Amino acid sequence: MKIKLTLAHLYPDNMNLYGDLGNIVTLEKRCSWRQIDLEIIKVNVGDSIDLEKVDLLFLGGGQDQGQKIIATDLLKRKEEIQKEIDRGLVALTICGGFQLFGQYFQTKTEKIPGIGVFDSYTVAGEKRLIGNVVVDISKSSQEWTPGFNHFTPKDKRATLVGFENHSGQTILGSKCKPLGYIKKGFGNRGDGGYEGGVYKNAFGTYLHGSLLPKNPWFADYLISLAYFRRYHDNIDLALLDDQIELEAHRAALTRAETAKTVSI
Ligand code: GLN
Repeated sequence: MKIKLTLAHLYPDNMNLYGDLGNIVTLEKRCSWRQIDLEIIKVNVGDSIDLEKVDLLFLGGGQDQGQKIIATDLLKRKEEIQKEIDRGLVALTICGGFQLFGQYFQTKTEKIPGIGVFDSYTVAGEKRLIGNVVVDISKSSQEWTPGFNHFTPKDKRATLVGFENHSGQTILGSKCKPLGYIKKGFGNRGDGGYEGGVYKNAFGTYLHGSLLPKNPWFADYLISLAYFRRYHDNIDLALLDDQIELEAHRAALTRAETAKTVSI
């Protein structure tokens, strides 16, 4: 039997910054290299989609303007998204997408409502937080509670590397766990503390750059969760030759450790 998974790419026309699309390419490639068929459905403002048939949601980052354009449409999908996340739907949301999966984003001029999948809210700070980021998830990954699956990331020592550029500062409530803790960079609140958020199989992060190509194990983790969502079983994904990806990961680590982070 050919394994088939479905990914809904939310608002690709308005929410796509700093190589966010690379995440989709990575998921598609890592599935196809293992003979898994990943169908990708683009969902823009006004498009209809049955989320029961979807295994993975992706929402990239966006400028405040882009976030404003999609917010009303996203709100219409709030109940359905929440219901499916509670039933194990996997979601990866980046930066502006992460902010709108929380309760709201208060910009300098207005409050953009979010859908509250994450118990979090975001307020624009005085400075833009820009730079390369290294996140340690070794402690936080013990606290995640992926929906309907006991699978946890295989590499508990794992770090995530990426690039952040945001004005918003995101504060997590008690129902949302951090994705990890900053080793280098600013993170959710700009203070070098925690980074991202996790609720069931929904992940939010400020890491662009792109996230998944340079952190291939995390891509595989999402694919495994998506498989569980569809087939109610764990999958032992075939190992791939990740030499190039791991070199990219190491290069990003070195760059983050040597480069300066700036806030303007
Ligand atoms: N507009 C949001 C902010 O500035 C999100 C930016 C982004 O997605 N990179 O905080």
